[in-house]
Amino acid sequence: MNRRYFLQTLSALPFALYKPATAVGSEWDYKDNDPQHWSELSAEYRNCGVGLNQSPIDLDHGIKATLPQLEIDYGDNFTTVENNGHTVLVAAGKGNHLIVDEERYELVQCHFHHPSEHLLKGARFPLECHFVHRLADDEIAVIGVLMKEGHRNDAFEEILTLAPKKSDEKVDIPGGHLAIKDLLPDTLHYIRYSGSLTTPPCSEAVNWMVLIKPIEISADQIARFAALYPNNARPVQPLHHRPVLED
Ligand SMILES: [Zn+2]
Repeated sequence: MNRRYFLQTLSALPFALYKPATAVGSEWDYKDNDPQHWSELSAEYRNCGVGLNQSPIDLDHGIKATLPQLEIDYGDNFTTVENNGHTVLVAAGKGNHLIVDEERYELVQCHFHHPSEHLLKGARFPLECHFVHRLADDEIAVIGVLMKEGHRNDAFEEILTLAPKKSDEKVDIPGGHLAIKDLLPDTLHYIRYSGSLTTPPCSEAVNWMVLIKPIEISADQIARFAALYPNNARPVQPLHHRPVLED
């Protein structure tokens, strides 16, 4: 993928985008305010209705391409696990990086959706993890990891154990240590496209990289997350004329 394609559409985004979802208000949700109507809730959410580069999408008909290798350098420095009313969110401390396109993105947080937001050739997965990164000049890159039923995952177990049952609560991660790398598959081939945040304000110019190989979590872990969030996935959005590139 030619990096210029993304730079053409990337623009400076306000810092507010990187704050937990609670920072933009908790008036939106997946039930009483159907995602189809998010754009009606606030002028700031306009993109959710009229944006032509929205996420998630069905990752199908990808164009084969030689994509730059992802260098993921996550340490184990994480601060809190928060139930923010929209998801379970793990806040990252400093020193967790993604290097792609010769740029060094800093990991800000990761969080989860049940079921998966992206489809892989029409298939939906039980969960999806989003690793949200930003560059110093406020470009956003998100790595999506699809999660299927299988073996128990230790890092997800720790997150589930810490996750507050009530919304708008957070707890410190003991010692700040969390083996977040366990939430990545052993191969990092990915599908890339230009999309948006999947929650209000649905800001665009987000550099999406969804890993093709899913990780495994247990049926029990899926059920425990579903007890907190029975459905926190935005429906698939139209692709319009965007290229989808597959490694
Ligand atoms: Zn997300």
